[in-house]
Amino acid sequence: MKNISMKVSLVFLLSILCACTGTDSDLKGFPLSHQQILKHLRTANEVAKEAVKSGYYPFGAVLVAPDGETVLMKQENLGTIEHAETELSRKAFAKYDPDYLWSCTLVTTFEPCCMCAGNIYWANIGNVVYGAAETTLKKMTGDNKMNPTMNLPCRTVFKAGQKPIRVAGPFPELEDELVAPHRAFWKK
Ligand SMILES: [Zn+2]
Repeated sequence: MKNISMKVSLVFLLSILCACTGTDSDLKGFPLSHQQILKHLRTANEVAKEAVKSGYYPFGAVLVAPDGETVLMKQENLGTIEHAETELSRKAFAKYDPDYLWSCTLVTTFEPCCMCAGNIYWANIGNVVYGAAETTLKKMTGDNKMNPTMNLPCRTVFKAGQKPIRVAGPFPELEDELVAPHRAFWKK
């Protein structure tokens, strides 16, 4: 009896852990494996670092094909209303068939704001991965006029729509890497 209750407790604890880290529970049926997600998040982070070199904010996103491997497009931040995910979803919609985009995944370093989530929704991109939460970003940007970060989870925005867009994130194991380009930037 004791063994059974211990096993039940262990399963319960593991399920809580998975739910908190946004990994296994979110990834059931997701087109990207955990390993592929980490790889593409790192690519998006490189795009974010390039954005800073070009004089923009440290955000980056990539569009991944249905095979989970091929990076179709990369997009850095281009300004206050030209967020990486908004620019990427607009360009992707102009280039690809909406039915194809439904099987693609937009991978972005930070959780999409409501503007970007809206663009992803209308572009018909069916899967979204983000590395760190909008609340994590808000702690760093504060009320910075260049980026007065909002606080509206992208899952809430998608749930208000009529399509089952799948979301995976955050991935705390990459948070230090993703946050690094921001620490110095928002102190300016
Ligand atoms: Zn945005």
